[in-house]
Amino acid sequence: MSSSRTGFVFDERYLAHDTGVEMRVQMRDGSFELSPEPHPSSVAITRRIKEFLDGSGLSARMVPITARAASEDELAVYHIRAYIAGIRELARHGPAQGPLLTEWGEIDDETVLSPGSFEAALYAAGGAINAVSAILEDKVRNAYALLRPPCHHAMSNKALGFCIFNNTVLAAHHARNTYGLERIMIVDWDVHHGNGTQDAFYQDAGVLFVSLHQQNWFPRLWGELEQVGRDAGEGYTVNIPLPPGTGDRGYRAAFEQLVVPLGLQFRPQLIIITAGQDASWLDPMAQMMMTMQGYRQISQLMVGLAAEVCDGRLLMLQAGGYSAPYVPYCTAAAVEPLLGVDLGIVDLYAGSSELECCQTILTLDTQRSLEDARVWHRQWWKI
Ligand code: ZN
Repeated sequence: MSSSRTGFVFDERYLAHDTGVEMRVQMRDGSFELSPEPHPSSVAITRRIKEFLDGSGLSARMVPITARAASEDELAVYHIRAYIAGIRELARHGPAQGPLLTEWGEIDDETVLSPGSFEAALYAAGGAINAVSAILEDKVRNAYALLRPPCHHAMSNKALGFCIFNNTVLAAHHARNTYGLERIMIVDWDVHHGNGTQDAFYQDAGVLFVSLHQQNWFPRLWGELEQVGRDAGEGYTVNIPLPPGTGDRGYRAAFEQLVVPLGLQFRPQLIIITAGQDASWLDPMAQMMMTMQGYRQISQLMVGLAAEVCDGRLLMLQAGGYSAPYVPYCTAAAVEPLLGVDLGIVDLYAGSSELECCQTILTLDTQRSLEDARVWHRQWWKI
């Protein structure tokens, strides 16, 4: 009999990953400076999510799970050792920012390393790993991990899109290597494609990777419908590209028509969600139209799926989300279903016509994309 409790991972060290400010405006010839604004992946957003969970009473209802530094061996199940050492060195002498191409790997021009970044990244990976252990040892039924830095763009030797180590990939490997799990489902609802996670399990039939993301977005050329896995892994990568403007109803339809039926057929022993709340209507890094109500609904669907197939075993890992005012609302709404509560948080924009539009619109484009995805993935699944 599994515990009914929800675990919560957070560590103050995450706040030491300092992405700094942006102030330079590029012109065709030269540049100039403005008053500084926080980097999109600002520590302030992580801090606000934590404060929101505390203030709303959600943190107090969860069981703290202590994070720890992931060991080099744990990181090396996916990342090459020269990359791990290279990141450690760069961060020590930070702040450092790409683009950088070295003999051991690559860092893009958006990912910043500060002196605290390496330790934060180690503890984020170790936090995800400890959460898997807490769930699989029945100390908690499910868990939410407020990790920083995020993870799903990170590849074996590449830091990309604000990500350093791939916490999702490392968590899945830990579930498999330490607890012998044979089937793990990863659902990536961050608005960007989880290229690193896809890469890690592309030839692997033991991990069903399902990504919902804005089509033709970031990273370029990743996440197309046709990318379905290779060899033994064919069919076990399921990309669901969605058009700009997809709101709550479109996302809910995607979960009802695709994600949940896939999970019912695959019957995972653990579900890991890469939860980026950057598909919201206020997010500066995408053009989707989700509201906190939409996040609550897709989270409820995943909790229901987990109850049906794997005794409720579900781990939600924080990924992107760049609207400082709204991400904490969307995150709390995604976390509440893990605990089975609704604490009555009123949407920041309750009553606005924009919010109503986001919650009710279902565009023809979205309907067509969902139909295309269903028809395509029917080659491997009954959907
Ligand atoms: Zn994202």
